Amino acid sequence: MLKCSYDALNGIFAKIAENAKLYLPADKDGKTDYTKWAEGVEWSNALNTARSPKDFFFPQVEDLMKFKVEGKSIAIDDIREESEDFVVFGVRACDVRSFDILDRVFLIEPYDSYYASRREHGVIISCACTRPTETCFCKTFGIDCTNPGGDITVWRCEDALYWQANTEKGEKLLGTLGLESADESAVNAQKEQTARIMEKLPLAKLTTEGFGGGKTMELFNKPEWKSLSEACLGCGTCTFVCPTCQCYDVKDFNTGNEIIRYRCWDSCMYSDFTKMAHGNNRLSQVERFRQRFMHKLVYYPENNEGIFGCVGCGRCLAKCPISMNIVKVMKTIGGSAE
Ligand code: SF4
Ligand code: SF4
Repeated sequence: MLKCSYDALNGIFAKIAENAKLYLPADKDGKTDYTKWAEGVEWSNALNTARSPKDFFFPQVEDLMKFKVEGKSIAIDDIREESEDFVVFGVRACDVRSFDILDRVFLIEPYDSYYASRREHGVIISCACTRPTETCFCKTFGIDCTNPGGDITVWRCEDALYWQANTEKGEKLLGTLGLESADESAVNAQKEQTARIMEKLPLAKLTTEGFGGGKTMELFNKPEWKSLSEACLGCGTCTFVCPTCQCYDVKDFNTGNEIIRYRCWDSCMYSDFTKMAHGNNRLSQVERFRQRFMHKLVYYPENNEGIFGCVGCGRCLAKCPISMNIVKVMKTIGGSAE
């Protein structure tokens, strides 16, 4: 375990930024989001960012390639830019877990080389939670917010910031920062304090019981989907703020001179999602709504050794304009006690 004083932090950020772009949560216009560090950018005190760090590895829009067609020949221009080293600092435990979920989608054969390259070049420095709030339920999915993982973990204790490397990549970076050794007593005390807060949170007893692989037909046919989905606007906000949603569309844009092939996030809540020549698979909002939650709570765990596709970050609880969210679905469809 290593530590640094809060006064030294700016110098450490500068040192990291010498060799890689550094992003950290910062406050701007009443909102907290990841911001590129430069002298004067302050690390936020907020619990989490509005948008998740998924954006760094799977951006909302990205150009994949350009091509020109002349007669029967096609010239492809590989324009990928995702090979720069970068560091994302201050990632919470829920968002760290989201990368395990995304990896199981993008890094299986045929693996997604755009995402894979960013995973290779990105270092994740997590930050343990000290003030989990009423919309947090990471514990439901077996996540320990006091021990968030990533390549390096930091603990924001009263006297100092404590650092620990968890991977080879993390060791390498931490070794360059010149931090002093420390014992673990302050970190252990903080972990216990946070665990006590977690136990008192309103969603502390929310369970995944009733969900998981093998329950497809039982849950798919529940009549409650209709009333739950009735007010859904199909706006897709829940999917865009979600750190684990990974659906995208691939489109071509003709500049008049060449074609740019790009991909952009899509949402299973949209009426034209996965629309095919014969029409759409899901014609009503109730079907689209059910798909989102069945995917996270039944289909994903069925295909991924029981791992759920939600990390309990609470963003959909905070952002849905009609206050619908995965917790309400779990309580209504799965009958979770709290
Ligand atoms: S559940 Fe809420 S955020 Fe998601 S699409 Fe419906 S209205 Fe929008
Ligand atoms: S479904 Fe909601 S709580 Fe779960 S990971 Fe996505 S945004 Fe977070």
